[in-house]
Amino acid sequence: MTLRTLDSLGSLAGKRVIVRCDLNVPVKDGVITDDGRVRASLPTLNALINQGARVVVVSHLGRPDGAPDTKYTLEPVAQRLSELLGKPVVFAHDTVGQAATDAVAGLDDGDIALLENLRFNPGETSKDEAERHAFAEKLAAFGDAFVSDGFGVVHRKQASVYDLAELLPSAAGLLIQTELEVLDKLTENPERPYTVVLGGSKVSDKLGVIGHLLPRVNTLLIGGGMLFTFLKAQGHPVGSSLLEEDQLDTVRGYLAKAEELGVTIVLPADIVVASKFGADAETAVTAADAIEDTPFGASGLGLDIGPETAAAFAAIIRDSRTVFWNGPMGVFELAPFAEGTRAVAAALTEVDGLGVVGGGDSAAAVRALGFSDDQFGHISTGGGASLEFLEGKRLPGLEVLGWS
Ligand code: ADP
Ligand code: MG
Repeated sequence: MTLRTLDSLGSLAGKRVIVRCDLNVPVKDGVITDDGRVRASLPTLNALINQGARVVVVSHLGRPDGAPDTKYTLEPVAQRLSELLGKPVVFAHDTVGQAATDAVAGLDDGDIALLENLRFNPGETSKDEAERHAFAEKLAAFGDAFVSDGFGVVHRKQASVYDLAELLPSAAGLLIQTELEVLDKLTENPERPYTVVLGGSKVSDKLGVIGHLLPRVNTLLIGGGMLFTFLKAQGHPVGSSLLEEDQLDTVRGYLAKAEELGVTIVLPADIVVASKFGADAETAVTAADAIEDTPFGASGLGLDIGPETAAAFAAIIRDSRTVFWNGPMGVFELAPFAEGTRAVAAALTEVDGLGVVGGGDSAAAVRALGFSDDQFGHISTGGGASLEFLEGKRLPGLEVLGWS
């Protein structure tokens, strides 16, 4: 079965259409620091507005605890969305209460409203089916149809992703369609050499992908926080770097499997080690197997791949025809540890073929380092979702839209 797309919903003029977007942008002191996900939601929203639908946007932001928390309000997002659309966006200060009811009732054809953070309500992420479903029913009362376009959450069985799609006539939006077209190219006969670059800090989340990717790729480059679990698995000391002890056996298994399959796993040859976590830390570049041999000893923290590794990774990336990159190579938010990520991003812009960036922080990193979106083949809005797709997992938020 294939994904139901917007046209399957027929004419939406005058209809109330709930759109699940992923507007989970980084916000610092009330200011959006990367609006990539807001921009990615525009094609679907404009298509619906232009048809004369009454658009009701729902999203989550951050991880509030099932209760209102001003730190995670979507209000700044409503403002930014309005600027980008060039029209007013009504903001409702609750999700399914009186404010939301009034906002939806006040919409004319072609108008748009954004409701407050879905995760201010415990039902959104509840593991209890009944509680989740009850919340979805309250949302469903606001719409005649449902468009799912939050690619970053399709791997989650949540009220606004899964249950709502069952309650109303539903289809995927244009963002989900685009994301799936690109991910398909990464799984169906990718052009070779095919290289996957993994980094970031969600180590155990991402280790799972490796087992599934090994039979499909030619080369796997490991950077970021997960590299230390690999170094330790090879018997090297890692100082006070990020380490997941309980994953050591898993990693040893991957190293053995890679050898068996003829896949190259490239680990860093050198590391930037810091005296502490901070932009003003003292730093030293050391061989990857000698992390504790700096003046900082066992308290040294590996916070970036070294310059030799960055150059080697860049060369492999440039020579590939298909590249998928998820997870920064170092703590790019701090200038002394951004160079590895910068080198990988720069190489990705030079790939003669398809170069894809996946992951919230990875996307934010390339923009923060001054690259623009159009320099890459594709920047995916969903890290976890794209990884689970590449793992071949069934994603509930897509299955409910007819995809299998
Ligand atoms: P993404 O959102 O792209 O999937 P993650 O959320 O897994 O990526 O990881 C992003 C974070 O990883 C960044 O905030 C970055 O600072 C951190 N990181 C990268 N390398 C290291 C490292 N060596 N030690 C600690 N944190 C790291
Ligand atoms: Mg992240």
